[in-house]
Amino acid sequence: MNSELRQDLVSGDWIVVAPGRAWRPNFFVKNKSKRKPDLIKGCPFEHPQFSKNGKPDLIYPNHQDWVVQVFPNKYPAVIQKKKNIRAGVSKHGPYSIFPGVGYHDLVVTRDHYKNFPRLSRDKANLVFRAFQDRYLVLSDHDYIDYVSILHNWGPTAGASVFHPHYQIISIPMVPPDINHSLTGSARYFKSHRKCVHCVMIDLELKEKKRIIFENEKAVAFAPFVSRGPFEVRVFPKSHLPYFENTYDEDMESVVEALQYSLRSLEKNLGDPDYNFFIHTSPIKDKEKYRHYHWHIEITPVISIRGGFEWGTGIDINVIDPDNAAKILRV
Ligand SMILES: [Zn+2]
Ligand SMILES: [Zn+2]
Repeated sequence: MNSELRQDLVSGDWIVVAPGRAWRPNFFVKNKSKRKPDLIKGCPFEHPQFSKNGKPDLIYPNHQDWVVQVFPNKYPAVIQKKKNIRAGVSKHGPYSIFPGVGYHDLVVTRDHYKNFPRLSRDKANLVFRAFQDRYLVLSDHDYIDYVSILHNWGPTAGASVFHPHYQIISIPMVPPDINHSLTGSARYFKSHRKCVHCVMIDLELKEKKRIIFENEKAVAFAPFVSRGPFEVRVFPKSHLPYFENTYDEDMESVVEALQYSLRSLEKNLGDPDYNFFIHTSPIKDKEKYRHYHWHIEITPVISIRGGFEWGTGIDINVIDPDNAAKILRV
């Protein structure tokens, strides 16, 4: 295909699909060096975490046969609010500032070598159960407005420790990317009376060109407007605005689709580093976000943003998403 500018339905942003620009067969695979796991010896996540006073510092769960643990990050991006800190905007000259309060939790699975796609279905489901449980606890804090759940796999995706771990970062405001996603889908809903994500899912299920995996309750596809090569999005098929209120059968389908997609990246693209993260509705004013459709985005670390991208905000994607799906589907 020729180069094509495509506009994202949600953000309104444009991207360029420019296949043939850098694409050679096995281009990504050839440039990869093999993943080297860190040794178990010295791994900070091998044993249940203990705080300085010797008492278990676990949030979840607290027994010998643990599969998933949640505990506070030793190097948090945000810190728990103390009573004397007011969680509100103040000024520094013309700038607005806000105290960096919130919670930064780590979710660790037991097996040093088993990353998310290699976990058994049951264990992978338990990870998502832990995300939901913790989300519900965090959303009780009146100053928390957004809970961001994410995974960094590999050093180029920002993981400083090899042992598979996930992060739950709760902050007192709605972050910019979520804000764009929420306002973009609200705008679409206002003019079409339809959920923009349901519309995207319907198109993908009808065209079947960019589907990577589908089961009864979930679907994974390479979005028509993919900002980067081999980007994948996983959606529950039902219109569900709130991650934390998702029923087990929907969630288990999503988890299966996520595991399939990640296994496929590993198998077909030479095991790239990647991030995945959840986009869901904020905590406050829930009713306002009934139009939103929570989902997971997977972004393999494959291309580097160049001057054109930084200078214009237009991402150049060298892989036609139709081809990305063809490669990842098998
Ligand atoms: Zn380990
Ligand atoms: Zn929807």
